[in-house]
Amino acid sequence: MSDYQLLINGQMVDGATTMAVVNPATEETLADCPRADEGQLNQAVAAAKAAFASWSKTTIDERKAVISQIADVIEANGTELAQLLTQEQGKPLADATGEVYGTAAFFRYFTALDLPIEVLEDSENRKVEAHRKPLGVIGAIVPWNFPMILMAFKVPPALIAGNTVVLKPSPTTPLTSLRLGQLIKDIVPAGVLNIVTDANDLGAPLTAHPDVNKISFTGSTATGAKVMAGAAGLIKRITLELGGNDAGIVLDDVEPKKVAQQLFDSAFQNSGQVCIAMKRLYVHDSIYDEVVDELATIANDTIIGDGLEQGTKLGPLQNKMQYEKVKELIESARQDGNIVAGGEVPDQSGYFIRPTIVRDVAEGSRIVDEEQFGPVLPVIRFSDEGDAIARANNSDYGLGGSVWSSDLDRAYDVANQMNTGTVWINKHAELDPGIPFGGSKQSGLGNELGMEGLKEFTQLKMINMAR
Ligand code: NAD
Repeated sequence: MSDYQLLINGQMVDGATTMAVVNPATEETLADCPRADEGQLNQAVAAAKAAFASWSKTTIDERKAVISQIADVIEANGTELAQLLTQEQGKPLADATGEVYGTAAFFRYFTALDLPIEVLEDSENRKVEAHRKPLGVIGAIVPWNFPMILMAFKVPPALIAGNTVVLKPSPTTPLTSLRLGQLIKDIVPAGVLNIVTDANDLGAPLTAHPDVNKISFTGSTATGAKVMAGAAGLIKRITLELGGNDAGIVLDDVEPKKVAQQLFDSAFQNSGQVCIAMKRLYVHDSIYDEVVDELATIANDTIIGDGLEQGTKLGPLQNKMQYEKVKELIESARQDGNIVAGGEVPDQSGYFIRPTIVRDVAEGSRIVDEEQFGPVLPVIRFSDEGDAIARANNSDYGLGGSVWSSDLDRAYDVANQMNTGTVWINKHAELDPGIPFGGSKQSGLGNELGMEGLKEFTQLKMINMAR
């Protein structure tokens, strides 16, 4: 038996079986979690399909009222949800608290948007209108690094546009979603939002399900490719938010001491498990040593530990698989460059890795070319700005990037030449619900957030009338 249950058709139900969810800071079982089988997934999709008939006919204001109430519930239970988020995900409590209240804020943001009918032409000959219609049932698939806020990129815009949803969190961080389901089950009409949890085996059948009209997916590029293939047979709509290997470019006019902490946080927030973390840092030759030294000092001073303990700045890696992968990448980096901070695994239980800075490393090394998704930053030397831009762009990924300079015109010129979905200047990884977000190249397809993110949950329908 589990303390948690699935949300299907407005009812809390047990999973077909259960599975253990592990606290990554202790490696102990945090909870037994329900695990749905394919039959329960099908029930959730059927409930969402049935609910679509009435939900899609409600007014947008009625739907916004439900979304606002969900935001209220998240805020009212913020302390409990944040604690649970720290326990299942590993991040420090302050960060978990920020994520939970941010989730409520993202829900609220979408209640300020509308999808009015646009009149494109009203002439003697014709009247042409653009309508935004809901798509039907949305499959929302979420990874384990930000289980709550990434859900909030999908659920509120999908519901406000008039769709119904089957949400599938990651197997290693399902508890906050299930707890939220329990808290809102009487607010959301039956079947409008369903939550099923799996052991990495229901994403494929959800994607291929004939009654699911769109998949909104956040996760790795490799799984994103599977989603694209699984959706192809039915020409199913997809939005893909995938992996990244964001470069930061630090120009020669930067004062190292001034930016070091910001650079560090851009790379190591959430122990580097951020799609838009800075994952490669290009630093001009003239300030290279100084920047590396500053970063190494900050890394060495960083307190890592259980996110529930006061003073913890970085928590563990979220799961064993990722922990093993990052340890292996650090070993390969040891061959290719010089590790000047971190590089070792503390002698304690939990998936902890100290923040690691690698210098004198370049392209051709796995730590530079691959997405590490962990607390390791390669610092790469450059002397020519054009060369740095070309090297930063030479990646299959294209999620985010940043330029650091005291001269905004210079920075803007570099930003213009970077081919990523977002480029930040003198900051990195800032997200805002009102600013569309998406990747170029193999970092994704489509956008989330902002008006663009809402429109992605609609079908554009034209009505063209003769006069
Ligand atoms: P993942 O691809 O392993 O899993 C993501 C989700 O997909 C999970 O819920 C998983 O159960 C599900 N899944 C597994 N197999 C599936 C299949 N065949 N079909 C459909 N769904 C399936 O990713 P992860 O390891 O949980 O997350 C880390 C990755 O996510 C990193 O690459 C990171 O950069 C990326 N990410 C991207 C963004 C973004 O917005 N671009 C945000 C966060 C994370």
